[in-house]
Amino acid sequence: MSEPAIQRDIPLKQFTTFKCGGPAKYFAEPSSEEELVSLLEYAKTNDIETFILGLGSNILVSDNGFDGLVIRIGKKLGGIDIEEDAASAVITAGAGAPLSLLGNTAVKLGYEGAEFCCGIPGTVGGAVFMNAGAYGREIKDIAVSVRYIEDGQIRTVNAEECAFGYRTSIFADKEDAVILSLTVRLGQGDPEQIRAYADQLKEKRTSSQPLDVPSAGSTFKRPEGYFAGKLIDDSGLRGFKLDDSGAQVSPKHCGFVVNNGGTASAADILRLIEYVRKTVLEKQGVKIEPEVRMIGKF
Ligand SMILES: Cc1cc2nc3c(=O)[nH]c(=O)nc-3n(C[C@H](O)[C@H](O)[C@H](O)COP(=O)(O)OP(=O)(O)OC[C@H]3O[C@@H](n4cnc5c(N)ncnc54)[C@H](O)[C@@H]3O)c2cc1C
Repeated sequence: MSEPAIQRDIPLKQFTTFKCGGPAKYFAEPSSEEELVSLLEYAKTNDIETFILGLGSNILVSDNGFDGLVIRIGKKLGGIDIEEDAASAVITAGAGAPLSLLGNTAVKLGYEGAEFCCGIPGTVGGAVFMNAGAYGREIKDIAVSVRYIEDGQIRTVNAEECAFGYRTSIFADKEDAVILSLTVRLGQGDPEQIRAYADQLKEKRTSSQPLDVPSAGSTFKRPEGYFAGKLIDDSGLRGFKLDDSGAQVSPKHCGFVVNNGGTASAADILRLIEYVRKTVLEKQGVKIEPEVRMIGKF
């Protein structure tokens, strides 16, 4: 086996939507599954910790970076395959495909159920890992099966075996697994209605979320019986900032912590996140947990 192409000291801020964080000691973006397999073997043999990166739209990378190998699953592992029958389609999307591509492909072909995917800015792999969802639907509602690699073996699990839960899946407990593809089944519908519904969701998102400012989307999970954004708003934190670092509770959507101008460090953002959690607990008596995953040592 030839040695896989690995880069050193690559700044990760360019690969996250929060636009902050330090470098990866080692970084690679495989262009095939074979290359991915050899990267994983290389890391295992050399006892190097790995982190699998999608679009970086749900992570906060420490300013100290990641002291191991970051493997970015990008578009080269993002092919889309469609099998149509009389009334439905089975679509298989590679882990590196943008989730929006899966959604838009279904909308274009007149299949319903994946409209919520159109506006979520991650990869298919990240969406499976997180059981991403919006407007009442989640990956679990459309998933048939997931293909992944673990310990050098390629396996396929059905949707039930994925143990999808609120913003989690079995892959959150499988440290060494890399999701390779997702297969969904969608029924045929009225193309005009499907297009109109997708447009409606897009409009809802654009009007309520700060999409032009770096963030990782909803910073906090929805606590049972509440909405994190409302709790934060009711705590008087709309638009709140601790300092001029750039980290701010979005004035447009209180559930988003944003990084204005991309000037805040990960530490600045984490400080604000902790302040918001503490204040909401004090003022509303509710514990809110980050949805954003922290990577590296803080
Ligand atoms: C503006 C904005 C709006 C958002 N709106 C929504 C929304 O409506 N609903 C929602 O659910 N989320 C939303 N998000 C959050 C985010 O887009 C989702 O969580 C998305 O699914 C993350 O995908 P990613 O590829 O960016 O994953 P990353 O952020 O790169 O990674 C997230 C986790 O998944 C793991 N992972 C990624 N790819 C793989 C793989 N191939 N194999 C194994 N593990 C993998 C990573 O190791 C990490 O632990 C939003 C984010 C932003 C910035």
